[in-house]
Amino acid sequence: MSSTNQLRNLPAVDEVLRCDEVVVLLAKTSRNQILKWVREAIDGCRDEICNGHCVDADEARRMVIATVLRCAAQDGSRRLQSVINATGILLHTNLGRAPLAEKAVQRIHECSDYANVELNLVSGLRSGRGERVCELLARLAGAESALVVNNCAAATMLVLQMVANGCEVIVSRGQLVEIGGGFRLPEVFEASGAVLREVGTTNRTYLRDYESAINEKTAAIIRVHRSNFYQGGFTSEPGISELVSLCRSRGLPVIDDIGSGCVCELPSVGQEEPVVQDSVAAGADLVLFSGDKLFGGPQAGIIVGAEKWISALRCNPMMRALRVDKLVLAAIEATAEIHLSGRAADELPLLQMLSVSAEAVRQRCQKIVSTLHSTDEHKVAVCECVAQVGGGSVPGSQLPSFGIRISGGDVEKVAHRLRMGIPAVLGRVQDDSVVLDLRSVAETQLSALTVAIQSAIVADASNNE
Ligand SMILES: *Cc1c(COP(=O)(O)O)cnc(C)c1O
Repeated sequence: MSSTNQLRNLPAVDEVLRCDEVVVLLAKTSRNQILKWVREAIDGCRDEICNGHCVDADEARRMVIATVLRCAAQDGSRRLQSVINATGILLHTNLGRAPLAEKAVQRIHECSDYANVELNLVSGLRSGRGERVCELLARLAGAESALVVNNCAAATMLVLQMVANGCEVIVSRGQLVEIGGGFRLPEVFEASGAVLREVGTTNRTYLRDYESAINEKTAAIIRVHRSNFYQGGFTSEPGISELVSLCRSRGLPVIDDIGSGCVCELPSVGQEEPVVQDSVAAGADLVLFSGDKLFGGPQAGIIVGAEKWISALRCNPMMRALRVDKLVLAAIEATAEIHLSGRAADELPLLQMLSVSAEAVRQRCQKIVSTLHSTDEHKVAVCECVAQVGGGSVPGSQLPSFGIRISGGDVEKVAHRLRMGIPAVLGRVQDDSVVLDLRSVAETQLSALTVAIQSAIVADASNNE
């Protein structure tokens, strides 16, 4: 049959839309979207025929349906959804950093309807947005006042825009950090209109370097925490209290961008993280940190410090562009309450993952491995691994951990099947195996994870037959 004749074997759009496999897609996807996939699939099949492939009507129909289903699966995997984080990176930026506490999730749920975001229920009058949230954060930090914006990068921009107002801000060359995603803090700083005055060298900056850089154009000193790398060896820089005493004598504010936002005692993680309360107590005028790093809440930039600065920030026109919505406020409020109640270790998933013993993680792995039915070609075993805090916090942290190593079969395909499963599972591929580190997996996810592993290896085995 010539290819022109074979083109008659192409199914009609309507015929494809009516078949059962495609009809079920209508539950999740709009008819227009499906129609677009069907047309593209038929075009693809037409190209195959024109390129000389022999395709009968049945085959053509199957090809088209298979393509439509693949498009739907790919689209479904791009939908925002829960992912089991088996990477061993506790604050994984690609997975939305900190998992929220149950109470934070509940509070979001409660406030997703109408909520008293800017209303005092006692007086019936308008109130400051998220007033109580800010009070809790200030109390937690031991600061006079607090403010919440979209993220820590927004916090630095807002603060520098107001404090520096186009004048100079002094920063150490050892603190010019790139925070990931290609964003460099010096550039974020400059986008605020501040002029960066770099002092010192990569490894050593002295108080006298700051001192001699101060001139009539100086508006502030900013310290930036090296949150995603660490320096060792011949290094030195003044601590926050030294910067504070220098600035006090010159009438300048000190801004402390600590990023990671540790507000409570962490289980030993090897590295010292700057603590918000310490920085406030040392006299930093404005302390900035992320809501979704060690604080364990949603994405946000939290600013704590002197009332005089915070109230000015609150009225800054930029504030309107950077403010957060009620759901973020709800989650921060619940998370701050947990910290204030002293129950962070029990109620914040991040702290639970940090503090669980390697032996307990090993036992979870063992339990899963013993319930899995192996296939002829896949080997599933418990392995030792090293987890980390990640997400621009506690650089170089090494947390002893255990995982499940899946070897044999097509490793990349197994990893792909795990990612495409429901729930999706993200592990890492290393040494011809897929390794699923269980330190970053919540206990409540273990049975779902077991099912996901089982179906991924069974599917891989039957596909390779
Ligand atoms: C992570 C980090 C930031 C950026 O925080 P986002 O909340 O992601 O905007 C800024 N500064 C430091 C020091 C950080 O560690």
